[in-house]
Amino acid sequence: MPELIADIAVFAPLKQLFSYQVAASLHGSIRRGQGVRVPFGRRKIIGIVVALKPGADESLKQVAELLDETPLFDEELLDLCCWSADYYRYPVGLALRTALPAGVTSAVPRVAILKDYLYRPTAQTTLPKGRKQREILDFIRTNGEASLSQLREVFSAPHTVLDRLLEQGCLDRCQVEKLRDPFLADPVTADEPLPLTEEQQTAFNRLKQALNACSFAPFLLQGVTGSGKTEVYLQAIAEVLQAGRQGLVLVPEIALTPQLVGRFRARFEKTGHRIAVLHSGLSDGERFDAWRQISRGDINIVIGARSAVFAPLQKPGLIIVDEEHEASYKQGEGFRYNARDLALLRGQKAACPVLLGSATPSLGSAFRCAAGQMEKLELTRRAHAGDLPQVELVDLTGQPPEQFVSERLQQEIEKTLQLRKQVLLLLNRRGFSPFLLCADCGQTFRCPNCEITLTYHQKSHLLRCHYCDYTDAPPECCPKCTGHQLEPEGFGTERLEQEIATLFPQARIARMDRDTTGRKGAHQRLVNQMLEGKIDILVGTQMVAKGHDFPNVALVGVLASDAVLNLPDFRAAERAFSLLTQVAGRAGRAGGGLVLIQTYSPEHYALQCAVAQDFSTFYEQEILFRQELGYPPAGYLANLVFSGIGESKVWRAAESLGDSLNSSGTSVEVLGPSPCPLARLRGKSRVQILLKAPKRAQLKYLLKYAEQFKVPAGVSLSVDVDPLDMF
Ligand code: ADP
Ligand code: ZN
Repeated sequence: MPELIADIAVFAPLKQLFSYQVAASLHGSIRRGQGVRVPFGRRKIIGIVVALKPGADESLKQVAELLDETPLFDEELLDLCCWSADYYRYPVGLALRTALPAGVTSAVPRVAILKDYLYRPTAQTTLPKGRKQREILDFIRTNGEASLSQLREVFSAPHTVLDRLLEQGCLDRCQVEKLRDPFLADPVTADEPLPLTEEQQTAFNRLKQALNACSFAPFLLQGVTGSGKTEVYLQAIAEVLQAGRQGLVLVPEIALTPQLVGRFRARFEKTGHRIAVLHSGLSDGERFDAWRQISRGDINIVIGARSAVFAPLQKPGLIIVDEEHEASYKQGEGFRYNARDLALLRGQKAACPVLLGSATPSLGSAFRCAAGQMEKLELTRRAHAGDLPQVELVDLTGQPPEQFVSERLQQEIEKTLQLRKQVLLLLNRRGFSPFLLCADCGQTFRCPNCEITLTYHQKSHLLRCHYCDYTDAPPECCPKCTGHQLEPEGFGTERLEQEIATLFPQARIARMDRDTTGRKGAHQRLVNQMLEGKIDILVGTQMVAKGHDFPNVALVGVLASDAVLNLPDFRAAERAFSLLTQVAGRAGRAGGGLVLIQTYSPEHYALQCAVAQDFSTFYEQEILFRQELGYPPAGYLANLVFSGIGESKVWRAAESLGDSLNSSGTSVEVLGPSPCPLARLRGKSRVQILLKAPKRAQLKYLLKYAEQFKVPAGVSLSVDVDPLDMF
């Protein structure tokens, strides 16, 4: 028998693969993608088999054991992960580990899949005697079937009664896997596909063609808010299921899109299709269950956030990335992949179409369409009744800053309330006020760990850092001048809520931001209250702009649009345009609707284009600016961030790499070293070097060169390829 060598990606922060000899006893069972345990130094660690080749080398250690017979990765996913580890310059073993749920490779026994009993009525028609027996049987007959956990929610201690019913032959019972997911627990009302509008039909037909071809094809579904993109997703997925393949749907943040999950369930559960929802609220055990069910082929549709791009579906037939412009598709630390971009790559490997959807596409996707690398499908009108809302700017120049809610906005709120319609107010800053100011000496309060002022939260009466969560009680008097006039300056959502309550004492007001939605189910409750009309005015951060369909909202107000516009980031205009257009889209879903945007810079093109809800004009302007400066999508970026305790040490390290890069003769622009926009974060000094290149290949070459650099002890260097957020 020929000898065999395995190249293993070990779960350790090392970029290279390690070779091991495979014992003859394992030859028949070892495969690519399998989890193995290997000796490493004095320990044994876990790794994944990336390659197998014939050969023998006596200096090699042996693979100790296989974790399981079935590989953890199929060929396609393994390739995807290895490619992305290389692209994002991240240790391949750790990238592979990111793609797995916790517990899959742990040495301790895995979390068992919980079992539940499912009860079904038999053909027997006699009625049992006891009242409780009759009630329970009735319940099961009405529902067709019921699980023990469902019954427990309705009846107290149903167990013995159920046993009696089984004995009498009124019920059948089988064991099923228990679903513990809150997203899948509430019943939904089944619905039918809607007759498509002409534009939807055109888009759908094109998709159907691509689906039938069973090959990779990238699409951008650019549809104004409320144009019925979701209906197109649903009908496209129906085609995929019919062809015996599976659907993968990525969403920016599951907790913020409960309505979308509901719509998929309403459409597909009745036909017996199974949906798995991967979200951050799952426990390790639940995530593991879901992963196992998906990899066994028991799941037809996976809906999930970023990491679901690695869901182990065997035959994905379509990958959808909803709200593809969202920054949350990019992982902010560790393995800094962008799930939107990996979705396209996965589509290539799986030979299936990929559909990116948005009302305000990322500049990158629009650029690809313009370059003919992606096909654009357009929905220019709302799907039913309502026209797009009317959007107006409210010029704040010359207004006293303490008048935070302009006259105009106040009047329109008043009118809307009289019509018994709802109001949404967006202010992208939580807390009571962005800082506390001593009126006598001008002293403000900064986080001791970060280069940022502390936000004042009135309800908890705390000063809080929004980056590291440092908190402190506000002092009685100013520590600098002992003055007693410490005043909150500026507005956060908490203060806006209070102000609105003073202005409109009759109105029922609620707030949606990270402070009010921290607890499980809190966000969903607010959404339900809005839908049930129990809230007149909803105040919130950008959370209110996302994906909701509140038919009764007739007025949307944006309080401080300049805060978004003036972010120190070349994408500020893109962010502002997108946020404003998205929030505007929450108005007038059932017809009519007004959006007021308060601003100090009414001439800014991002605002002008948001008013006209005109993406293409915005794109034309913005792409010129990017091309001029070589910023993405007209160029490629990577950010090298040095951080550590001791400012001078961090600077010295950055400068020495900077010198080395500059003298390497590269054609890549080396910008910096310069302090990060947040020069101190969680107690660490931070310095960055930004690399800018017209071609990806040049950038990659230089990054590999930079990796040879020996970072001094106490300083860490993190690499962010295609950075989205450069704080
Ligand atoms: P988007 O995802 O583009 O913002 P949605 O899919 O949420 O839009 O659709 C907005 C509304 O229009 C929803 O209430 C949806 O039920 C409705 N809708 C979508 N397509 C149709 C259609 N073909 N006919 C009637 N109503 C539709
Ligand atoms: Zn801090």
